[in-house]
Amino acid sequence: MVAAALSLLLLPIVLVIGLFSQVTEPPETGTGSGGLNSGAVPEEYVKWVLKAGALCDEIPPAVIAAQIEAESGWNPNAVSFANAQGLSQFIPGTWATWGRDDDGNGTISPFDPGDAIMAQGRYDCALVDQVRPYANSGNLLDLTLAAYNAGPGRVQQYRGVPPYSETIAYVARIKSLMGKYEGAVGGGGKIPPGQQMAMPLAGNPQVTSPYGYRMHPVLHVRKLHTGIDFAAGMGDPMKAARDGEVTFAGWSNGYGNRVVISHGTLNGQRVNTTYSHMSAISVSEGERVRTGQQIGAVGSTGFSTGAHCHFEVQVNDGYVNPAPWLGI
Ligand SMILES: [Zn+2]
Repeated sequence: MVAAALSLLLLPIVLVIGLFSQVTEPPETGTGSGGLNSGAVPEEYVKWVLKAGALCDEIPPAVIAAQIEAESGWNPNAVSFANAQGLSQFIPGTWATWGRDDDGNGTISPFDPGDAIMAQGRYDCALVDQVRPYANSGNLLDLTLAAYNAGPGRVQQYRGVPPYSETIAYVARIKSLMGKYEGAVGGGGKIPPGQQMAMPLAGNPQVTSPYGYRMHPVLHVRKLHTGIDFAAGMGDPMKAARDGEVTFAGWSNGYGNRVVISHGTLNGQRVNTTYSHMSAISVSEGERVRTGQQIGAVGSTGFSTGAHCHFEVQVNDGYVNPAPWLGI
């Protein structure tokens, strides 16, 4: 009782401090997690995605948009077998808590896009606070998405992402889809000077297996390793090495989830890059991609013994060593 009364008394002070710290802190100029690639969002929903994505720092507009794509494919009338409804796929019980008449049309409905998207933002931000005690420095978003999929009680129970394949896949899918909804400007979109291609992963990843003949780790025969393996974590963004057009995006035996990008003709030769073993793919065939744009998420699908990035360069349809193209 006393503590509660005291915290009520302190509340105005905390608010005032909060206001001042907002004024004195420099604006965030990081890699653009706050930006929205509004061209990827159906026009009529852009304002709601931006509004819902401004409710808390941890849930930017790209997360809101990626969730809607995964939940309903942007269909405002979607109804699932479990009676999840609308763009954000609220079940009636959860809707009763979070739904409001945000679009001011006189009804509170999960089939009203504005009501649905804003309720989704409020629910996401509440989940952030519920899972924060179990988060480490880097996985607050993972835990929030896991809570959205499996319920915050499960995150609490396992003190992390619960070990359900559906939940793990959901987290990977959202993080993978986020790439196309993030603002196009930002770091990682440039080919370093003197190179033909940019790294398919953020930073300077370690090469765990180079191009060339080796004993195959799964098939146990001596075989040409047709690309470079980079160390990477499950769900890490995989990025286009150069501007191009997606010519394949799907399952390929051995390669698992694979994307092939055509970069057209360079110095008279047709050049493709390929990205394999992904846990999720976030582009589709025929799509134009830019250097550094996320095309999927690191995984271990196909013939693979653990999460990594297998990256290939094809010249006139034959495999070549990617190392020189990446400046390695
Ligand atoms: Zn490999």
